[in-house]
Amino acid sequence: MTVRAILNEKGFDVITLKPDVSVKDAVAALAKHRIGAIVVTDGKGVIKGIISERDIVRTLAEDGAEALKHSVADLMTANVKVCTENHSVHEVMEIMTRGRFRHLPVERDGKLIGVISIGDVVKRRIEEAQKEAEEIRSYIASA
Ligand code: AMP
Repeated sequence: MTVRAILNEKGFDVITLKPDVSVKDAVAALAKHRIGAIVVTDGKGVIKGIISERDIVRTLAEDGAEALKHSVADLMTANVKVCTENHSVHEVMEIMTRGRFRHLPVERDGKLIGVISIGDVVKRRIEEAQKEAEEIRSYIASA
């Protein structure tokens, strides 16, 4: 299964913020949309960074409530790993495992078009495993 197939199923909507937005507003957006990370863009689809709940928790531990006054640009990871629609679920799993993160923005022609989370990947892997088990069961039953 490819990233394209996942996006076709779950949709291409992505929650984004600009780098100058406050961490307080980023926390509100994470809570409102029930997500764990937000892709930071220039407002025209060019990726500038990614900020996840982990970045916010780390800064809260260091700076306390002052962390909320920072801008997203202060906390975000600027060196963002991305994938394309042609990546396989397997490749995405490898990139996430190697990079130790759970979110992977999808780019087309240098612009953000979607996000794949570890939850999306696990869901498809479980579905694939169930389908394989079903096929093996019916093969054995027909033998
Ligand atoms: P996560 O596991 O996705 O919540 O993120 C863990 C850490 O990795 C945080 O510091 C994020 O800013 C960073 N991160 C998340 N996704 C990516 C990505 N696609 N590329 C680079 N860093 C990322």
